[in-house]
Amino acid sequence: MGRAAGHRPRLVFWRDANTELRGLMREYGQPSSRPTPEFPILALTRTDVWELQGHVGGIPPAHGEPMAWLDEQNPSFGLATWAYELIASDESARSEAIAILGRRFFNGSLPEALLGEVGLRQLKRGDTPSAQDWSPLEAYLRLCQTVEAAEARGDHDRSTVSAAREQPVRSSASVKAVLIRSGGRCENPLCTGQPNDVNKDGEPILEVDHVHDRAKWGRDHPIQMIALCPNCHAIKTRGRTGEQLRELLLLEARARHSTWVSQV
Ligand SMILES: [Zn+2]
Repeated sequence: MGRAAGHRPRLVFWRDANTELRGLMREYGQPSSRPTPEFPILALTRTDVWELQGHVGGIPPAHGEPMAWLDEQNPSFGLATWAYELIASDESARSEAIAILGRRFFNGSLPEALLGEVGLRQLKRGDTPSAQDWSPLEAYLRLCQTVEAAEARGDHDRSTVSAAREQPVRSSASVKAVLIRSGGRCENPLCTGQPNDVNKDGEPILEVDHVHDRAKWGRDHPIQMIALCPNCHAIKTRGRTGEQLRELLLLEARARHSTWVSQV
């Protein structure tokens, strides 16, 4: 629905949607449930609001083990054309759909931060500013609230099991918050210059790093995370002065976070 409201392409490939959906489900899903976008994506194909295409052969049942099938086929999916056009063009239909989803799945209404993340926030009240109009400060604070709510629920104490090893979960909200805070510049105060190029999405080439390693259960919160250019990231992880830099970056992350949250 966010794609329709933002007039973005109707269909999205599994490989592009998987990570984003998993992050959203982790942040906003039921605390007791695992982030499993494969289930709704396949289950929705039994309804006429949804379309899935680009695959060979039949669609496996959602309750089976659909991950391997999705990874191999990489189909694209999204709202059916009629539903996409309705959501894109009719604001009252959008508001109604958002209200129904809120009542059905969130005991009331959809979290504002979720609506913002998927590009639907402005549609709820008609005349409020869109998510894109959030000030960086507002976005940073909301994302930090999302992270802290997930921490309070115990979500950050969980791990995910990928192919080879078990890993602590990672919050996409934390990463987004840090990137906003960075303003697109490496946050290492001793940085000698980040690449002038941008990545393939046109964004600054920055890596968001946990100063205390997340793999060792360092807190998954902007207060101890930092956006680094590739040079500074390499110094921190592989450099002889990496340990000293780590101390400095921890202070820097804390100071930046405090500055931002004290602005309200
Ligand atoms: Zn740097």
